Amino acid sequence: MNYTDEEICTQYGDQPEYNRGSVSPPIYQTSLFTFDTFEAFTHAQLNERENYVYTRGVNPTTELLEKKLALLERGEQCKCFGSGMGAISSVFFSLLKSGDHVLFVNNIYGPTQQLLEHLQNFNIEHSFSTGDLESDIKPHTKLIYVESPGTMLMNVVDLKKISTVARQHGIYTAIDNTWATPIFQKPLTLGFDLSIHSLTKYIGGHSDVVGGAVIGAHRLIDQIFEYGFQLNGAVLSPQDSFLIIRGLRTLPLRMRQHQDNCLRVIQYLKTKEEVIKINHPSQWKEEDFSFINDQMTGYSGLLSIELKEGGFKNIATFINQLSRFKIGVSWGGYESLVNSPIKENNEVELIDQGIGTGLIRFSIGLEGSDLLIADLERGFKALHSIKS
Ligand SMILES: *Cc1c(COP(=O)(O)O)cnc(C)c1O
Repeated sequence: MNYTDEEICTQYGDQPEYNRGSVSPPIYQTSLFTFDTFEAFTHAQLNERENYVYTRGVNPTTELLEKKLALLERGEQCKCFGSGMGAISSVFFSLLKSGDHVLFVNNIYGPTQQLLEHLQNFNIEHSFSTGDLESDIKPHTKLIYVESPGTMLMNVVDLKKISTVARQHGIYTAIDNTWATPIFQKPLTLGFDLSIHSLTKYIGGHSDVVGGAVIGAHRLIDQIFEYGFQLNGAVLSPQDSFLIIRGLRTLPLRMRQHQDNCLRVIQYLKTKEEVIKINHPSQWKEEDFSFINDQMTGYSGLLSIELKEGGFKNIATFINQLSRFKIGVSWGGYESLVNSPIKENNEVELIDQGIGTGLIRFSIGLEGSDLLIADLERGFKALHSIKS
């Protein structure tokens, strides 16, 4: 059956006929499920993937969310987790063993890198791609792990090319697809084995819930279910699943508005001589990134800029003037946020990582671009006044 994204996000899975006419799905707030007979109980225990036994297994509310996410990504199956990191760590724990190597492509979310550093203790190696995939792949490379777009510099990589090379070598591919969401990018249709999300960002969308998901073929998700989910135990609660199902209803709509607001803010930022770079995939040159239009159908609202004159003091002056943009971690909610990797004493470290000391990251929310632009204008004015 072919459902549109809008159908999946809204009506799909509503069963008023079973649920006493309720439009909204029930929250199965239960830790366990009981059985009429001992035979039925023992039978269900043999296959927890297909039966309701315990909520650190399958829960009907979370299962509805999983069905919707699998359909949105055009994947066979999805497993949800108590956080994005729960989902990410489950992929590594399930697919890797001692002696394996992971190849990172593009800039990778900090905690994901820290996790792989920790896994060195278990004899699992990792390295970063130099850009030439064929020469980066080692005899023991088991998984190519990608972020595209990244979430600090928003760089993009050619997903079809990566999945094609990986298949030739019999290597698994996984992507953290949090930036684009399945509304704007469906990596499984480009040959990726696994698509991973932090549901905490756009999919939840209201900054009131933490969750994660992995989508892929039955074969892989069953393996992840058993080892990475049931034994690791990063469970998404039924209440939180309900909130994420609610977030999904407006996901297509919100993504279009985040995109629209973000592109308007970018038009404004382009007029500012204090800004030397705008990091957002809409700004990458077509001739260098001809693959973008084949793999993405839109842009979310997470961008960063590089100020001509960086450093802690300038960044703090700029950010402290903002009132619509709240200062904080995370992104992808209805509210606009501002953040920078700079601290009082890490300039050298940042430059080593290829990050400028003038970098500021914005998550463009749903407040309306005029309000946000007026807010940014105050930041730029404050920069002028410290100069003069
Ligand atoms: C936030 C984030 C994660 C981690 O998700 P949590 O829900 O915070 O555990 C992973 N990847 C990216 C790109 C993120 O932004």
